[in-house]
Amino acid sequence: MPKFDAIVIGTGQAGPSLARRLVAAGRKVAVIERKHFGGTCVNTGCTPTKALVASAYAAHVARRHADYGVTIAGPIAVDMKAVKARKDSIVAPSRNGVERSLKSLEGCTVYQGHGRFVAPSAVKVGETVLEAPQIFINVGGRASVPAMPGLDQVPYLTNSSMMDVDFLPKHLVVVGGSYIGLEFAQAYRRFGSEVTVVEMAPRLIAREDEDVSMGVADVLEAEGIALRLNATCLSVGKHPDGVAVNVDCTEGAPQVTGSHLLLAVGRRPNTDDLGLDKAGVATDARGFITVDDQLRTNVPGIFALGDCNGRGAFTHTAWNDFEIVAANLLDGGERRVADRIAAYALYTDPPLGRCGMSETEVRKSGRPALIATMPMEDVSRAFEKGETNGFMKILVDKETKQFLGASFLGLSGDEVIHTVLDLMYAKAPYTVMARAMHIHPTVTEFLPTMLGELRDLE
Ligand SMILES: Cc1cc2nc3c(=O)[nH]c(=O)nc-3n(C[C@H](O)[C@H](O)[C@H](O)COP(=O)(O)OP(=O)(O)OC[C@H]3O[C@@H](n4cnc5c(N)ncnc54)[C@H](O)[C@@H]3O)c2cc1C
Repeated sequence: MPKFDAIVIGTGQAGPSLARRLVAAGRKVAVIERKHFGGTCVNTGCTPTKALVASAYAAHVARRHADYGVTIAGPIAVDMKAVKARKDSIVAPSRNGVERSLKSLEGCTVYQGHGRFVAPSAVKVGETVLEAPQIFINVGGRASVPAMPGLDQVPYLTNSSMMDVDFLPKHLVVVGGSYIGLEFAQAYRRFGSEVTVVEMAPRLIAREDEDVSMGVADVLEAEGIALRLNATCLSVGKHPDGVAVNVDCTEGAPQVTGSHLLLAVGRRPNTDDLGLDKAGVATDARGFITVDDQLRTNVPGIFALGDCNGRGAFTHTAWNDFEIVAANLLDGGERRVADRIAAYALYTDPPLGRCGMSETEVRKSGRPALIATMPMEDVSRAFEKGETNGFMKILVDKETKQFLGASFLGLSGDEVIHTVLDLMYAKAPYTVMARAMHIHPTVTEFLPTMLGELRDLE
């Protein structure tokens, strides 16, 4: 039985970096990966989708050529084989880089196969049982496939199988109007597909403020994406066009038909076939591994990092998990999950950058607060670039003057949000930003202007 100081299961966003830190600290480490090195983000998540979104953006701008005084003779066509090839050429170096770096790391042994616990300190891969006093679970998640009537009768796509699509679906029906579904929906609309988004909730990205949901919906509808909301009683079946989705909505036709079906209704953790019962590792009702604020499971020596612990669903939260565990185990730190501030982006165009509390959450908290909003039409940089969709919203605590949160739906919203995020980490009052001189012309230069217009949140 090969013995190690540490075993890392999964090579997503936390595992490889942790393995490197452990090896650098002199530990003998085993890393187990059952499929693609780099995990979801690199292979079927962030990297490929943002590559697709970039191709879609190029098509969109090309179609708007006349707005910019540019002449393009003939129609704008999208070569889906070339789009996929570009995406693959961006993914491959990242995947190969993770694989190469781990396999060439002295002190690290890579096992390729599915890892399963056979005891609290032992994991089996193939016929080999590895043993270590410390085990780090970084197994991520996968698309959840709902128990929807008829789903066994029709082919469907998920974020993973979408990666193999090298053709233009005539009509893509996206079930799920949240972050993953909307990125694919807009990209494929821009590639030239008809697209319908079917969402159970009364609005898209229902976790966001209503004005944010509406802003995103307006953008998508303006591009010709059909939205079917309140789709509460879903079922699917075969149709001469491909697939029929029965939506049973409160209004509109009871059925949506399309050529292809994409399911984007959430993620589930890869913990169902991990032998967690053999190790005694506790999970919650949805299968997420239960961890404390330092990512320790209930079993001493076993940690869970990334999407599988349910404490985050992003690459940056998985990476932050690595930083917390590495700091605490190797640097004598005291870092905690509770110290991080919620932050993420939706990569539609324009993107949505979010940090801290939403307006809805601030209102629920009942604390006295200030709010400022600005339409992107008032932002000269956006006007100059011809990209004025969206708006910005900032919330501030009236007593401490610290930022509570922000939603930036607009040009560069995914980048500009960090100016607020960093001041939140610094616990600085908003007046620091209000008095800062920003560069013209940028989107960020309007944040001090907005702060000058803060008003009571009523
Ligand atoms: C379409 C899409 C777009 C996304 N876009 C973004 C984005 O723009 N920004 C962002 O921050 N996040 C994004 N995400 C989320 C992001 O991809 C995940 O949060 C992130 O990859 C989680 O990393 P992880 O380390 O937890 O696990 P993963 O990256 O999922 O890696 C887990 C690894 O473990 C391996 N594994 C699983 N079980 C076993 C086992 N039993 N034995 C051995 N190996 C195993 C898997 O093969 C995989 O390689 C997106 C996700 C999707 C699906």
